[in-house]
Amino acid sequence: MSKHHITTLCALVALSLMPHPAWAQEQKETTPTEEAPQLKGEALAEHIFAKHNLGTTEGCLKFDEKKLLARKALWKDAIWELSTQDPDYLHAWLVGQQEPPKTAIQEAISQRDCMFGQLVADAALPDNDLILNYGDKYRQSKHTMEKVAKKYEKSSQFRKEVAHMFSQSHYRDAAGQAYIWYRKFYFKHPRSFNLVSNQAAEKCGFTPGVSWKPKNTRHQRCWNDHLTKDERQREILTASSAPGISRHHWGTEFDLYGLNPRRFMEERELHDEYVWMSQNALTHGFFQPFTGPEMLGEHTYIEERWHWSYYPVAQALVSYIEEHPERYESALDALWEHFDTRWRGKKQTFSHFSYVKAHWKDYVFHTARLKLALMPSWISPSSILRIAVIT
Ligand SMILES: [Zn+2]
Repeated sequence: MSKHHITTLCALVALSLMPHPAWAQEQKETTPTEEAPQLKGEALAEHIFAKHNLGTTEGCLKFDEKKLLARKALWKDAIWELSTQDPDYLHAWLVGQQEPPKTAIQEAISQRDCMFGQLVADAALPDNDLILNYGDKYRQSKHTMEKVAKKYEKSSQFRKEVAHMFSQSHYRDAAGQAYIWYRKFYFKHPRSFNLVSNQAAEKCGFTPGVSWKPKNTRHQRCWNDHLTKDERQREILTASSAPGISRHHWGTEFDLYGLNPRRFMEERELHDEYVWMSQNALTHGFFQPFTGPEMLGEHTYIEERWHWSYYPVAQALVSYIEEHPERYESALDALWEHFDTRWRGKKQTFSHFSYVKAHWKDYVFHTARLKLALMPSWISPSSILRIAVIT
């Protein structure tokens, strides 16, 4: 497919996915309501969500682009109202200091499970080549796909097992993310992690693309003696987020099927899942935000074919951050100060988040905004992997 085709396609889709321009004007300044003046925190959030008809959905929501934007607009209105009545609660949710409100998390999980239902059923269709990986217990055959789909339909316990098997991780709070950050920053991570960047490889005479090995003395010397504190943060940020700026704080993000990038490549065991997701996830409200620096530019994470985001809530939160970066930034500053205070040794006065502070906007905003839902038939599966819409 020519570059021209990709560009045209992206432009078309980008146009059709432009947010409704009336949003900004439609926002009402809301004052605390008379019927519930004392509500705060999650209780207030739930009250507002109910008022906006969120959380009352029975069954599965099916989206086309228009419905997806309408759902996001509904969430956006509710989040805006929450921001006027209890901004501290909203900001604590955004930076991972407060668990997400139940309605938001439940809608994302319910839609995820609806998506799994379709995936399992599709794999059982006789005219479909889709073969899923159900782990070592199951053979990867059409017969298995049919058997599993039947059991899935009958047993709610089995549906839970499959969801558990597919879903590798979901919500993570700032403290959990800080723990990972700290262990990597001090090169105490128990396993190999990330990949050595070109810059670090050049500095230390390594081959780029190998994993960082905290137990290897050459790697230790490179990390501790040759990389600056900012460079160490940048190395961590290639494949894992910093506390405060992880989308996993929102309750809308899922790591699905596996976490090893190689397993999602063509001919490998999770490639079918990935192609199916690229074609069908958006119908259920999910898109792949991290498509890699090649498409999204510097200061972004590597391509994550396992990370799927529930668009209506997640992008309503992104819109809020885009329109109020200074509020989000002060919540981040307070969070980082909190962790720095705890970690800073007596003589150390540096921040463990200096580089993140300078670049958080890149990491938060350099994401693909949507992955195409329905691919025209003239595009081969391998080109699907190259198409993202960036707005
Ligand atoms: Zn993830």
